[in-house]
Amino acid sequence: YFLRPEQFKGNTVTIEGDDVHHLTRVMRAEVGDEVICSNGVDREVLVRLTALDKTAVTASVVQELEMTAEPAVKVWIAQSLPKGDKMEIVIQKGTEIGAARFLPFLSERTVVQYDAKKEAKRTERWSKIAKEAAEQSHRNRVPGVESVLTWKQLLAQGKQADAAWICYEKEDGQQLRTAIREAVAAGKAGTAGTVMLAVGPEGGFTEQEIRQAEEAGFISVSLGRRILRTETAAMVGLTCLLYETGEMG
Ligand code: SAM
Repeated sequence: YFLRPEQFKGNTVTIEGDDVHHLTRVMRAEVGDEVICSNGVDREVLVRLTALDKTAVTASVVQELEMTAEPAVKVWIAQSLPKGDKMEIVIQKGTEIGAARFLPFLSERTVVQYDAKKEAKRTERWSKIAKEAAEQSHRNRVPGVESVLTWKQLLAQGKQADAAWICYEKEDGQQLRTAIREAVAAGKAGTAGTVMLAVGPEGGFTEQEIRQAEEAGFISVSLGRRILRTETAAMVGLTCLLYETGEMG
């Protein structure tokens, strides 16, 4: 369970909110059971449950654990807002695989309605999906989910990364594999480094967007000769990068 830092007091941990329901109703936990709790930053512990009621579960620390599940390379998935529940799929699967951050954004061919009023609620829901997926996959950290960015903001974020790649199905020069190997050789992706992987919407990026991204320092990359669905592209790019940097086992 990912808890807030204030839920840790020395060797005592208090589990609250939705986690109590999950622990007592879904997992049917009892006093004496052991679970793993993390503050999502620098402390992860094995705890034994000491008391359970409807609003809180208390537990005492049995063992301090090492946080070894996080990939060395931080991968930021920049996903142009897709239709339906595909963003949820990207966040859930991307978290399991090992993404560090999700940046949904709007681009010229984004077709979904963007409603600023519903924005906070949606980001909250996406963050919850990231937390649950991080718990399920035994991550040490919950990936951050940003609120929807404009195209300009996205390009600015790309500059914060050590390398920024934009996936373009019409790219016939640079392959993702070459970009990864060059970044690893330059020390931008591997034991350290942050890589942004930008994926377009169902209708793809416009030529102008690719040009603008390149001017902002992005490298246009191909993921192969087949056209992948938007939600598949991000997962393939992420998996290839983590595989090449030795993070996939
Ligand atoms: N029409 C399909 C859909 O509804 O999802 C495919 C859309 S594809 C144009 C969506 C995005 O996936 C593209 O903008 C690009 O970022 C990425 N993509 C898909 N296949 C790719 C490939 N072979 N190489 C690079 N990027 C690819």
